[in-house]
Amino acid sequence: MSEEIRSIGVLTSGGDAPGMNAAIRAVVRSALYFKRKAFGIYRGYEGLIDGEIREMDYPSVAKIIQRGGTILQSARSMRFKTPEGMKLAYENLKKAGIDALVVIGGDGTFRGAEEFSNVYPVRVVGIPGTIDNDLYGSDFTIGYDTALNTVVEAVDKIRDTAGSHNRLFFIEVMGRDAGFIALRSGIATGAEDILMPETETSIDELVDKLRHNRRESKTSGIIIVAEGDELGGAYEVARKVNEQFSGYSTRVTVLGHVQRGGSPTCMDRVLASLLGFESVKAILNGQNNVMVGQVDKKIVYTPFAKATKHNLTINRNMLEMARILSL
Ligand code: ATP
Repeated sequence: MSEEIRSIGVLTSGGDAPGMNAAIRAVVRSALYFKRKAFGIYRGYEGLIDGEIREMDYPSVAKIIQRGGTILQSARSMRFKTPEGMKLAYENLKKAGIDALVVIGGDGTFRGAEEFSNVYPVRVVGIPGTIDNDLYGSDFTIGYDTALNTVVEAVDKIRDTAGSHNRLFFIEVMGRDAGFIALRSGIATGAEDILMPETETSIDELVDKLRHNRRESKTSGIIIVAEGDELGGAYEVARKVNEQFSGYSTRVTVLGHVQRGGSPTCMDRVLASLLGFESVKAILNGQNNVMVGQVDKKIVYTPFAKATKHNLTINRNMLEMARILSL
């Protein structure tokens, strides 16, 4: 294993996701296990620029594996997108004696990490931490499973009241650019339809389906709408449906930030622990500018540029299946 890396910093950036704490714990304790110093950098790249860096020991990450959010906090940093901001960030790393960085976040975080390590001699490895599951190079991102379970629990509750009042609910879930949360939660809740950015939404077809459902004595229903659907969010879709069809009394629920919080599921804790451990091993083995992910149960390294390319496709067979099963 590489000798020149003496200390490793870890930060969380972009949108927070349940399981980030488990990943921080794993990075810190793995670094210490391999006799390296560990540093926590607060508030993502913004805190790095401001020098908010603290050395971490075993107790610093005790009793956090079960907690949602991130003890290091997160931020969006405009300054890190500028050469001056990146220079300050590098100077702070040097001052603290940090030679390698583990960044936990989504595609923006990795784009920033790549630009940074192209300019400055800092080894950077990423861990996919985002509820959106929109990164190439890992079957699942940390936080996705917890967010899905939160959505499913909420939709189940709404289903109870929808059925009691013969109502059609449009439920908006997170996903500005990706429909992964919508698709999977829609399947798991038996939603009558699932609308997302990757597929063209036809109001006419949706209305036809609702008319059919009504004729077939479906007295209530659930439509899952990803916030980034090209027709707009759930309010907009509901308005357009109501213009053409009045067969149901409709309601809209926007689940919002409840999807980001909460105690991580077992799956997210295990994934976060594994990827945290593997990220430190990757750094010590000389990896740089890559995201550590898990594909088909194997650890894989994907260059940041490829991980963030958004060449992911929605599984249309799954969508087709969801539609068939909810007829
Ligand atoms: P999520 O997918 O959960 O929103 P994210 O990591 O994509 O997470 P962003 O806000 O897009 O979240 O990115 C996090 C931070 O990464 C930004 O606030 C910015 O500081 C940095 N960043 C993003 N793109 C770049 C870039 N091209 N150059 C430098 N820094 C960048």
